[in-house]
Amino acid sequence: MNITVCIKQVPDTSEVRINPETNTLIRDGVPSIINPYDLHALEAALSIKDATGANVSVLTMGPPQADSALKEAVAMGADDAYLLTDRAFAGSDTWATANTLATAIRKIGFDLILCGKQAIDGDTAQVGPGIAEFLSIPHIAYVSKIDTITEECVRVHRLMDDGYDVVESSTPLLMTIVKELNSPRLPSLKGKIRAKKAEIKKISNSDIEIKENDTGLPGSPTQVKNIFAPESKKDRKTIEGPPPDQVSQLVDILRSLKCI
Ligand SMILES: Cc1cc2nc3c(=O)[nH]c(=O)nc-3n(C[C@H](O)[C@H](O)[C@H](O)COP(=O)(O)OP(=O)(O)OC[C@H]3O[C@@H](n4cnc5c(N)ncnc54)[C@H](O)[C@@H]3O)c2cc1C
Repeated sequence: MNITVCIKQVPDTSEVRINPETNTLIRDGVPSIINPYDLHALEAALSIKDATGANVSVLTMGPPQADSALKEAVAMGADDAYLLTDRAFAGSDTWATANTLATAIRKIGFDLILCGKQAIDGDTAQVGPGIAEFLSIPHIAYVSKIDTITEECVRVHRLMDDGYDVVESSTPLLMTIVKELNSPRLPSLKGKIRAKKAEIKKISNSDIEIKENDTGLPGSPTQVKNIFAPESKKDRKTIEGPPPDQVSQLVDILRSLKCI
């Protein structure tokens, strides 16, 4: 079985600072880490590898420095590492990111794709399901337990607000992983030595031949108009009643606030 784990390098901070003039994240002076949820996705892949001998590839789309995240994943036990990097990919929104990653994954080959449930900086949780859509394969989000997994099918628990669903699917398939699934392992000394020598395979636009209008800024249908840290507000109003009444109450409130 070929498992591809998508990992994103993110700033190691829970207090993201924003440049008010450019509306971009301030990354200077902030060390980078593998997105914590992606470590749980990688641990899931490595556990499947331990049990079945699957091949685990890690893939990231990012600047050349993102190869340090891939090396860390190799130190943990990943077999192959791919860095999707090209100026043509710069400025991608979640649509373009998912499209570019999906195009690369199609080229690498896959039976199972694992992502974190969301990235702690962008926080949209859109990229995993987006990749599945571009590849026309099913996806299961928020996987918190794997009951069975074979080359042909999976049976997993999907975390919900009020419990969990038990979901079965055939492969190929994409799953997004929550932290409840496992505890990520630490890199071993042997793994660290292997990672030092490991080849990070670079994939550029010429390798995947994605059209100019399908990636990067030109391929991004959304634009950031404003970005800000939300203020915590204490005034709360609970809307009660049957769901259709709640919806009309909410619409009235939004109208009175001139939000719609
Ligand atoms: C409207 C908009 C415009 C943007 N414009 C820019 C811009 O101009 N420049 C810029 O640098 N960023 C930009 N971004 C941010 C960038 O698009 C996102 O960081 C990226 O698309 C991933 O989205 P996310 O962080 O919300 O990830 P999520 O969707 O929350 O991530 C879910 C999972 O997908 C996988 N994943 C996500 N991103 C990657 C990746 N890069 N490589 C491998 N796996 C990944 C991981 O497994 C992750 O756990 C923009 C975002 C938006 C919403």
